[in-house]
Amino acid sequence: MDDWSLNPNVRKLLQRVPLPISLPTPLRRGTGRSTAGELTGTRAVVTHLRDALDLAMAQAVQQAGAAVTVVDPAGDATLTGRIVDGGGQFVAGTADLPGGVLHAIAQGGATGDRRPVTLIHRVIRPHGVDLAVNEATDALLSVGHAAASLPPNSRLLLVLGPDLRGDSLGGLMTAATQGFMRSAFKELGKSGTTCHVIRAEDAQSAAALAAFLASPRAAFLTGLDLLARKSVAGDAADGPELDGKVVLVTGAARGIGASIAERLALEGSHVWINDIAQSQAAAADTVAQIRARGGHAEFVAADVGTLSGAQAIADAIGKSAGRLDGVIHNAGITRDRTLKKMSVAQWRQVLQVNFGAMHLVQTAVAPLLQPGSAMVLMSSVMGISGNFGQTNYSTSKSAVIELAKQWAVDGQARGLRANAIAPGFILTDMTAQMPVINREMAKQLTAMLQPGLPLDVAELACFLVGGQSRGVTGQVLRCDGGMAFGA
Ligand code: NAD
Repeated sequence: MDDWSLNPNVRKLLQRVPLPISLPTPLRRGTGRSTAGELTGTRAVVTHLRDALDLAMAQAVQQAGAAVTVVDPAGDATLTGRIVDGGGQFVAGTADLPGGVLHAIAQGGATGDRRPVTLIHRVIRPHGVDLAVNEATDALLSVGHAAASLPPNSRLLLVLGPDLRGDSLGGLMTAATQGFMRSAFKELGKSGTTCHVIRAEDAQSAAALAAFLASPRAAFLTGLDLLARKSVAGDAADGPELDGKVVLVTGAARGIGASIAERLALEGSHVWINDIAQSQAAAADTVAQIRARGGHAEFVAADVGTLSGAQAIADAIGKSAGRLDGVIHNAGITRDRTLKKMSVAQWRQVLQVNFGAMHLVQTAVAPLLQPGSAMVLMSSVMGISGNFGQTNYSTSKSAVIELAKQWAVDGQARGLRANAIAPGFILTDMTAQMPVINREMAKQLTAMLQPGLPLDVAELACFLVGGQSRGVTGQVLRCDGGMAFGA
């Protein structure tokens, strides 16, 4: 399933005919298992190198294969030396106003290097409340100006360190940066460039998050504002990422769930695929595809909206695997009606499958969960913004976001994490039912001018259930290509 605007033949034709149609940039996505060198062939520019947080960020992208340039007027000699030893280079410049050294480097300097760039800017502390004339806000314009000239599929990561927490000046700069990012990603999206804010409480967690956001796995994510905390699971989150982990995916016979299951299996996880009995044939196909590639998958037929269904899932996994390291609560349905026409059955059915089922399944499998386990709850951007004719759906998906936050708090003592994903417009059988005009409008409402693929949500789910996201919990992550809804 692909969108017509990304079809190479259609694009060739449209480029010859002068129609006022904006064509989206094809996104540079991951092609398989996440690998250690996934940033090979890209560049990274880091605007500061003065403390452990800066170093962790620079090393994370360098270890992933990016050619790193540090741009700093002074730069700590020891820290800079470590990046240079790793093959990086140092330029004694500042994140100065447009036209400066940063801009030249972002553009590829004299050689016009067009490799994608991850531009990591550590937001600096303002020298006073006058943000209009301030080194800290000038630097935002400077990195923004540079980012606007980056090659397609680049990244702008704005990092807020601990020095900006705990006082009013830090609070002002944090809010200013968040506001900057919320507009910047809308401008950058057309070229497939993404922009995020990372609020770093812990250097290692922030670096792991940056490495993910910089990677092709995060191609369709933009406009995220995430807190990188210290791991709630301690050492339990270390060790092999997803290899050998036992993970349950509900509603996984087709669509996003099937893609998540396939992606997890590719990483070496033992996947339990759940769906209703009527989806047996589709589920068998998904299981067969995974096994054909040497992966491990089992199907458990059950209606997650019932107590007996939830218990059947827990019994099957308990008997066979005896443990569970992750749950992707993905099963979901729509029964769209305006309020006037909404029946009690349509209202209750959607709330039961999209929300109630998560509680039932989670309660049933709780004894199997290991420290370090993570839950991913599938919400929707409609749970944030609402939508005409979808009161039942947005009620359920909004409650899911709060559920993820509550589970994150409740699970902390057991070393468990929980996060919600809010997909935007993703090409699946569910959205294939939308009228053509609504589909086209949905695309135009994204910064990237295109729909997402099930793989985009799958990459995010894999990240959130794996150890690389050890500092991310209780958060909602939109996977929407920068949708204008609900900002
Ligand atoms: P889909 O309809 O293609 O797949 C959903 C799967 O869930 C189906 O296989 C279905 O049989 C299964 N399911 C339904 N009720 C079930 C039940 N009671 N027990 C077990 N399985 C059940 O949908 P999708 O597009 O892949 O969506 C997956 C999730 O993502 C849903 O929660 C959906 O609300 C959410 N989402 C999707 C989009 C999108 O654009 N596709 C956008 C936002 C959110």
